[in-house]
Amino acid sequence: MSETQLSLFDDSTLNQRELIPTDAKIPIPPGTYTTIDELANHCNQCHRCGLGNTRTHAVVGRGNLQATIMIIGEAPGQTEDETGLPFVGRSGQLLDKILASVNLTTENEVYIGNINKCRPPENRVPTSEEVAACKPYLLEQIRLVDPKIILLTGATAVKGLTGDKRPITKIRGQWLEWEGRLCMPIFHPSYLLRNPSKDKGSPKWLMWQDIQAVRARFDEIRNHG
Ligand code: SF4
Repeated sequence: MSETQLSLFDDSTLNQRELIPTDAKIPIPPGTYTTIDELANHCNQCHRCGLGNTRTHAVVGRGNLQATIMIIGEAPGQTEDETGLPFVGRSGQLLDKILASVNLTTENEVYIGNINKCRPPENRVPTSEEVAACKPYLLEQIRLVDPKIILLTGATAVKGLTGDKRPITKIRGQWLEWEGRLCMPIFHPSYLLRNPSKDKGSPKWLMWQDIQAVRARFDEIRNHG
């Protein structure tokens, strides 16, 4: 059993356990969590929004907890809900391939999470209330991982984090600044699965350009801080 798991049974964490939010009105101020495990433990018991009623597992993240790059998707799908891990279905496999094409992996450079931690029924888009209810967890997750670069997959992720409502086709590949962090909107891998062409100008081709730009910026940060 890990130290973090053991610590859940310490007296010092009893207050934390009593503070599991059951309503979106209960604030989760910055600094509430000291580890992602603590945050995940709350998410798995959370009912700040209705998605908590139907989840099998809350899906918090996978990858290196000290990663330079954090990828944020929309919400878990069926495979994610079953496994408790984000981006592990067909979209996730494609995302891993895209990352591998520029030598980025979740073992080292990348951490992956979602805007909403619980699966919306029938994979519908999460409502703005559900996004708002879950956002404090996302902000805590970003604070704890402290990535230099955030990639936002699809319009819901962009809107959920930054409030920018522009269509993904207009803003993908552009660097934006959010709270002092570099962000880039990119296509959601599921969109690429539906558009398999690799021709110049196609979504897949554009994704290839974007991930190379991300790799170049990552190298700059690594070499110059
Ligand atoms: S989606 Fe987020 S806010 Fe809603 S129940 Fe799950 S963890 Fe809580």
